[in-house]
Amino acid sequence: MNSEGRIREMNGRIDLHTHSTISDGTYTPAELVRYGKKKGLRAIALTDHDRIDGIEEAQMVGEEVGVEVIPGVELSADFSKGAMHLLGLFIDRTSPSFLRRLAVFQAARRERNPKIVQRLQEMGFKITEEEVAAAAGGRPPGRPHFARVLMEKGYVHSITEAFERYIGDGKPAYVKKPQPSPEVCIALIHEANGIAVLAHPNTIHLTDRKLSALFERLVKAGLDGVEVYYSTHTPEETVRYERLADEWNLLKTGGSDFHGEHKPQIDLGVGKGNLRVSYALLDALRERRENKTA
Ligand SMILES: [Zn+2]
Ligand SMILES: [Zn+2]
Repeated sequence: MNSEGRIREMNGRIDLHTHSTISDGTYTPAELVRYGKKKGLRAIALTDHDRIDGIEEAQMVGEEVGVEVIPGVELSADFSKGAMHLLGLFIDRTSPSFLRRLAVFQAARRERNPKIVQRLQEMGFKITEEEVAAAAGGRPPGRPHFARVLMEKGYVHSITEAFERYIGDGKPAYVKKPQPSPEVCIALIHEANGIAVLAHPNTIHLTDRKLSALFERLVKAGLDGVEVYYSTHTPEETVRYERLADEWNLLKTGGSDFHGEHKPQIDLGVGKGNLRVSYALLDALRERRENKTA
């Protein structure tokens, strides 16, 4: 192990991008934190899509078992290409204006579901909203639940196949929901006292030159950080994003995007096996936040 590796190990490991049953993960917030403890993580950020109501439970269990829980959220931003997601870390989960905006986003997700069912029916699949709701087991139904029904009915072999062929972004049964601009997402995160981070830049699919232009735009809007370390980033992509983060004076974060059984190839804290995120990054985030609010 080189000296940098040793420092990372000394500081402990963290995971700043995770999903629970509150959005589209399969572990409850409590189970997620307990699993983090088992995996030897020192800190976890819970970053459910458009929802922050799992944070209290996660933090309670975190205190009990000795895992630091960072309150977070993941927002989807409107962008012409690929999927642009923004993470809000250190969110104030009691901010009334933020909770109101999240309720609007959740309603947009709910309104999308009947439209996806209709598309799939038009394509010849026998699928109903009730079946999707049953697959969600009382939680808000989302695309992984559509995928599960398609799999259970034998239309696809895996959740991944359902996304790749039918319901993933841009696929035939995909229905776009109205989304706020990246600028609005960043402003909302800041209003709730959070740190705004561009998630998994590899899903935006931009050339170097266009990605630089995007960074310029987002930095102007107040972006604080970029998710440099991520389960599906190649080593080359990681180097590219490290360089961009340095160039634009952005904080570096990292996380697995753990979803439990919905993404079985991605494990908490380690991604596909070789992800390591150092606690030192969290210290840097906290420092930036304290300087901002001071
Ligand atoms: Zn995402
Ligand atoms: Zn995510």
